[in-house]
Amino acid sequence: MNVIFLGAPGAGKGTQAQILSEILGIPRLSTSEILRQEIAKGGEEGVKIKSIMDSGQFVSDEIMNGLIRKRLEQKDIDKGFIFDGYPRTIAQAEVLQKILEDNRYLNDTTVLNLSVREPELIKRFCGRFTCSSCGYSYHKELNPTKTEGICDKCGGKNFTIRADDSKDAVKVRLSIYHDKTEPLINFYAEKDMLVNINGEQEIVDIAKDVLSAVKRVR
Ligand SMILES: [Zn+2]
Repeated sequence: MNVIFLGAPGAGKGTQAQILSEILGIPRLSTSEILRQEIAKGGEEGVKIKSIMDSGQFVSDEIMNGLIRKRLEQKDIDKGFIFDGYPRTIAQAEVLQKILEDNRYLNDTTVLNLSVREPELIKRFCGRFTCSSCGYSYHKELNPTKTEGICDKCGGKNFTIRADDSKDAVKVRLSIYHDKTEPLINFYAEKDMLVNINGEQEIVDIAKDVLSAVKRVR
């Protein structure tokens, strides 16, 4: 059984992929891990990828597609695999679809869309802050300090907010998601592969829905 998680940044894909991977005992694949493995092998392609990444650029779709194809031929995924950050574009989804069709044993694939409304996504990102002294993370609504302005762990009084979590930065990430990735929901719905999951529940309840969706499809 193969599972692809879709959802906006902050929808909880990584968390659910991790939980499902442990329950089903099938590996969670990520593009960053596949790239790291290729670099670690140290071959000609690994060296090329390292120099692209070191210069801060993105690896082309062509290289990535080749690596994904090779990865899906390895033995450890004969029970299945989980993707939670790939594919991100229609072009990538079309290539993945071709790879799945070429390997008939990979046909059993379910796509789970974790749906979370935009104001909720913005709330999840925008309230995050970290203690400057000990690095402990908080959220102003979801996980605040016990006493306002004082770190529970170390008593520190200075906090930092990641630039990525500013409202403008989050809006940019969400707009890239709307343009590039959200069309995948229709792509997979038309192929009858999609199950929508309410991503605005407690983590354990989402995990229950994920598991029953995967079992229902089987
Ligand atoms: Zn602290």
